[in-house]
Amino acid sequence: SDHSPRNSSTRGWALQQAAAEVLPGGVNSATRYVGHPYAFGGGDGAYVVDLDGNRYLDYHAAFGAILLGHNSPVVDDPVRDAVGKLDLFGLGVTELEVELATRVTEVIPSAEMMIATMSGSEATAQAVRLARAATGRQLLVKFQGGFHGWHDAVARNVISRPELAYGRDPLSAGILDAALESTLIAEFNDLDSVRALFEQHPERIAAVIMEPIPHNVGALVPTQEFVSGLRDLTSAEGAVLIFDEVITGFRHALGGYQEICGVQPDLTTFGKGMANGYPIGGLAGPRSLMERFDGQKGDVLLAGTFNGYALGATAAIATIEHLRANPDFYTRTHALGARIRDGLTSIVAELDLEATVAGYGGVFSLYFAAAPIRGYRDLMRNDNQAYAAFHRRMTDKGFLMIPMSLKRNHVSGSHTDADVDRTLEAARDVLAAMKAD
Ligand code: PMP
Repeated sequence: SDHSPRNSSTRGWALQQAAAEVLPGGVNSATRYVGHPYAFGGGDGAYVVDLDGNRYLDYHAAFGAILLGHNSPVVDDPVRDAVGKLDLFGLGVTELEVELATRVTEVIPSAEMMIATMSGSEATAQAVRLARAATGRQLLVKFQGGFHGWHDAVARNVISRPELAYGRDPLSAGILDAALESTLIAEFNDLDSVRALFEQHPERIAAVIMEPIPHNVGALVPTQEFVSGLRDLTSAEGAVLIFDEVITGFRHALGGYQEICGVQPDLTTFGKGMANGYPIGGLAGPRSLMERFDGQKGDVLLAGTFNGYALGATAAIATIEHLRANPDFYTRTHALGARIRDGLTSIVAELDLEATVAGYGGVFSLYFAAAPIRGYRDLMRNDNQAYAAFHRRMTDKGFLMIPMSLKRNHVSGSHTDADVDRTLEAARDVLAAMKAD
């Protein structure tokens, strides 16, 4: 079909061949390869365009980094104005950095101070180090399936598509054994599994890090009992609770998922959608912890040549200001997300498929496994090949979704009801055809 990125007569295919010569695997990030790399040339609102001019309705959204839509003038105009005004000084502070930290501390319930990084991985790495420094302890607890970036402390027990490289555990070769052994694994929505680790390792656990909704395995929504229980447990045990809101932050609510569940973590990490596609990450928390990054009085190293750089700070401020001035962003994306989930749920029932629709807000996932999907063990029942076929057929019809079978898709501020109608129509055709095969 027109939209196939596997069509070997296209410009996209030629670029994929050239890429294979100079980039390992033909891509700059392992998760961008799904049997072939894609080759895009541009984006516009809810759409992206490949090198051959095919338009795709985009739910992949750069793994969620696109929040308002591609090339949004809300963000791009101020960034364009900033080019040529401020570049990089490497001394002192800019007005933009103070403005960004002020905005973040205003909107994030648990944030009193904030540091800017260049990516989500840097933010979680800083959070883990800060927690270790503050507690004088070494161990970290993460949840099965959770993803917090590429660095050593969090590279264990990540699943998204077990049959691919990304299903490796640990995620990478070349990691110190000590780093892997210092990361303990608990089960999401199972407070007893966390309690057991605290009992096994008394006064040795520095922090618990969690995606409040683990969107790296789709959408396991936490029970209120679980998040509140984690807060109480970590406080009682003297450990730091880290909410990794790299995906949930700014996307589900201006104040992140912590605003929705009413539970305040000690530390919060940000990234992705925060600057609508411009590289940035952030770590926020109470003054008492964050002041350890103080280069004079603290003891934790905060460094980064590009931290707080003008274009990223400008983009993040513009994104946050837009969301603050337009709370209907949340009512609209949540309503569109609900329409997609309800529509997919009806199609699944109608066709009697072994599939389960999940999600939250503007995020949706289609698991090819029967309900209930509560945790890791249920996710292992997922039929990854069925998802791959669904993904491929949707791509060929011009709908771009995340290729990994256990991740999620995103509605941006640019998607419309008509887009959702078309998506459901295409999904019905694809699923019916898969059923007939
Ligand atoms: N935390 C979460 C929850 C993520 O989903 C990701 C990226 N997928 C990261 C951290 C790492 O962010 P980055 O890719 O910007 O380093």
